[in-house]
Amino acid sequence: MPKIQQLSPHVADLIAAGEVVERPASAAKELVENAMDAGAKNITVELQNGGMSFLRVTDDGCGMEPGDAETAFLRHATSKLREAADLEAIHTLGFRGEALAAISAVSRIDLLTKTADSAFGTSLHLEAGVVTERESAGCPDGTTIIVRDLFYNTPARMKFMKRDNVEASALIAAVERLALAHPEVSLRVIKDGQEVLHTSGDGKLYSAVYSVLGKQLAQDMLPVNSHWEKYTLTGFVTRPTATRGNRSNQLFFVNGRHVRSKTMTAALEEAYRNQLMVGRYPSCVLHLKLPEHLVDVNVHPAKTEVKFINEHDLFDCIRYGVQGALETASGRVAMVLPKQPQPVSGTQTLSAPAQMPRTPTPSAPKSTPMPSASAASTGAKSAAKQGGFRTMTAEDYRAFLSVLQEAPRVVPPKSPAPAAPAAQKTAPEKAPAQNAPVQQELHLKSENYRIVGEVLNTYIIVEEGQNVLLIDKHAAHERILFEKLRKRTEPIVGQLLLTPVLCEPEREEAAILMENEALLQNCGFAFSDYGGGTIAIRQIPADLDPEDAESTLNQIASDLKAGKRIEPEAMRDTLLHTIACKAAIKGGRHTEEKELRALVREVLSRDDLKYCPHGRPICIVLSAKQLERQFKRA
Ligand code: ADP
Ligand code: MG
Repeated sequence: MPKIQQLSPHVADLIAAGEVVERPASAAKELVENAMDAGAKNITVELQNGGMSFLRVTDDGCGMEPGDAETAFLRHATSKLREAADLEAIHTLGFRGEALAAISAVSRIDLLTKTADSAFGTSLHLEAGVVTERESAGCPDGTTIIVRDLFYNTPARMKFMKRDNVEASALIAAVERLALAHPEVSLRVIKDGQEVLHTSGDGKLYSAVYSVLGKQLAQDMLPVNSHWEKYTLTGFVTRPTATRGNRSNQLFFVNGRHVRSKTMTAALEEAYRNQLMVGRYPSCVLHLKLPEHLVDVNVHPAKTEVKFINEHDLFDCIRYGVQGALETASGRVAMVLPKQPQPVSGTQTLSAPAQMPRTPTPSAPKSTPMPSASAASTGAKSAAKQGGFRTMTAEDYRAFLSVLQEAPRVVPPKSPAPAAPAAQKTAPEKAPAQNAPVQQELHLKSENYRIVGEVLNTYIIVEEGQNVLLIDKHAAHERILFEKLRKRTEPIVGQLLLTPVLCEPEREEAAILMENEALLQNCGFAFSDYGGGTIAIRQIPADLDPEDAESTLNQIASDLKAGKRIEPEAMRDTLLHTIACKAAIKGGRHTEEKELRALVREVLSRDDLKYCPHGRPICIVLSAKQLERQFKRA
């Protein structure tokens, strides 16, 4: 048995340092968080060689007194926590008092710091955690910390570092998340002498989203704004038509802290159910605020994991909050036309660069186009408002009720309806009684349209007020059928096939089908393993054409393979998508005029027909304004 020995403080510190500082990105995150905790309004991060050889964070926060500046580098030294009880309501980003100790243990550090009250600042130099130089120095209020030669004394860790560009990207991504977490702070990142990020710090989340995620994504986003009990959810989510092949832009923040949470991801995606193609994911920047005692942030040293007292409430809050935003948004997508060389004033959603905030380092600000304070918010609003069905305001609703009372024969009011449906506010279950009048109203209104005709055997052109609508007949019919099928509560009835249909799915898909046999039976399918990789289909859902039996089952198998959704309800939806898609009128083929008329009537009178079950839009709007601009009449 080897002899047991207590590790030397030096080795113990290096081990602890390894947990907190994994790579340059984690060092940068800790330093920027410290600057934010110090109340900084402007923070600049400069890096060279991916942050390995040089990382400087400059802030205009509260600074430190000379004595504090040295204490700050000791382990478990913090100004943010005093006693155990404080752990129950942490409202700073840091609280462990470990970051500066950890970073300094594995690098060479220069610190320059000054409080507003003192005439002189403090300058410190540390090597591997030990102060080697200290003097007073003239410097601006705030703190500058330079980290050089990260991991120079831990070659084992150094080996794990990736190429400079990879480390730089991780570092920039970490700062971007902090920028989205705190739009009230202006963050600037300069990589190898070039500015790569500059947020305005105007306090508007949309401005930060615009700077970090880019104009395109920002414009494809809808505002979320819901309150429910002690939860407040705000931020932006993408329209169902603007999804991505991965989840990397799903960003969640809880009380100003970036977190990863399976529950939050699942709740977000649940809100989009039946609006997305398999393998496509929404993006979001969502801020959840809740009382500090309902969430425990003291879970993981890297602090992206948190624990919630009530995961169910969390799920519902996000799901209904996002659903509300998607429902309120226009179901019609505005047609995107090429930009005019000379844009007409007052029509753009985003305006010229805003004044950059004062920055603590003296490098010339590059003019990155930024949404100005007011333009940013109107940009978000008008994106959500473009064309389309609108939700009623409380006033509209009252007016509507009075119309009903005047003309009771048109639409007899069934129940005295409750409060106006404020979809933006929160997210109660959708009550059908509450919804019916809204649909009726839209129905009354939508008599004012004219079907112009059909083009390319696919798109129906409709004139409605000042808008030209293009309706994809297949997408529309598919959604209508899907909703109809889905409303049925009884189990899907099967029809026996006279002769079994034999099909030969891929080996993996065959296995998936056999695995899900019981579920598929509930959906009206019956099949058996015929041997040699062949499956014999004996029964199919009554609504399905036997000709489509094989391709439907194949489709379900590949959907299951891609999405791995196996809950019965989702499975049923997947099946209903496929049935609806197969049964819907086809684009590119002739359709009777009578059918087209019925389709248009349905699309324009209903509020729930926004996207086909795969997330493609049903109706696109081209406004008179847009046309006038294109023809240079306006
Ligand atoms: P923690 O943030 O968990 O308290 P750190 O090791 O990151 O631990 O920092 C230790 C202490 O140093 C902080 O509590 C704070 O008082 C002080 N400090 C660190 N960075 C700054 C800064 N940029 N401005 C002012 N004070 C700072
Ligand atoms: Mg800290």
